[in-house]
Amino acid sequence: MPPTGPPSFELLPGAPNSPVILHVPHAAREIPAQVRQGIVLDDTALERELDHITDSHTARLAEDAARRTALTPWRFVNRLSRLVVDPERFPDEREEMRAVGMGAVYTRTTHGEPLRPVQTDPEPLLARYFRPYAQAMTDAVADRLAAVGRAVVVDVHSYPTEPLPYELHGTGPRPPVCLGTDPFHTPPELLAAAREAFGAVVEETGLDSPFSGTYVPLEYYGTDPRVSALMVEIRRDTYMTEPGGPAGPGLTRLASALASLVTAVTG
Ligand SMILES: [Zn+2]
Repeated sequence: MPPTGPPSFELLPGAPNSPVILHVPHAAREIPAQVRQGIVLDDTALERELDHITDSHTARLAEDAARRTALTPWRFVNRLSRLVVDPERFPDEREEMRAVGMGAVYTRTTHGEPLRPVQTDPEPLLARYFRPYAQAMTDAVADRLAAVGRAVVVDVHSYPTEPLPYELHGTGPRPPVCLGTDPFHTPPELLAAAREAFGAVVEETGLDSPFSGTYVPLEYYGTDPRVSALMVEIRRDTYMTEPGGPAGPGLTRLASALASLVTAVTG
């Protein structure tokens, strides 16, 4: 029998002629019961870990931004926690986070403690969750290319104000908004539009610190210049109580900035 239950991710349609996909990979806390059984934390420790690792309220931020935009962007939203699989990691040895037990299937927590037994075989989770997600995201980009001739993936994340022990580049600057770029897929105009949009609502936007890069489906990665991409990493103190608390008024300001960015790149 195929697994049942709510979808593990959703593509929420935008305007037929919008090139923009707001990608929200880390907003959810949901972990299917069967996957939960493979995690060694007790319920209290798991909730604490979810508080640290989840980009809380970012799905709402993307939804708010979409509502404020004349030409509605598409939204691709992960409905499961990144503790199930992290769709943004490379599924193989290219992934630098494997060194700290946080490749596509994490075996360590943000504080370096065991999350899954080290001998856990990642393959069933990759087959059930990672690859279908990657394929659906590839298809979503292909649809934008077919409809509009280009695609703009805006990756919507948030990050903790204080570095967590797992961070490999935790000593660098932690601006209110960090823009993650890729040398091939982030054209200067896209970066400039993001600096302008977010610069209007926060004191400072930074570049590629503490997190760098941006998500592009592997089929297009490094080869198709019609796919542009940018990662937006919002420092959590600008819009929520950390860790894992409610959103505050900053969320509305940031949603309006994201809407301005979408409008700017839609042309
Ligand atoms: Zn994230």
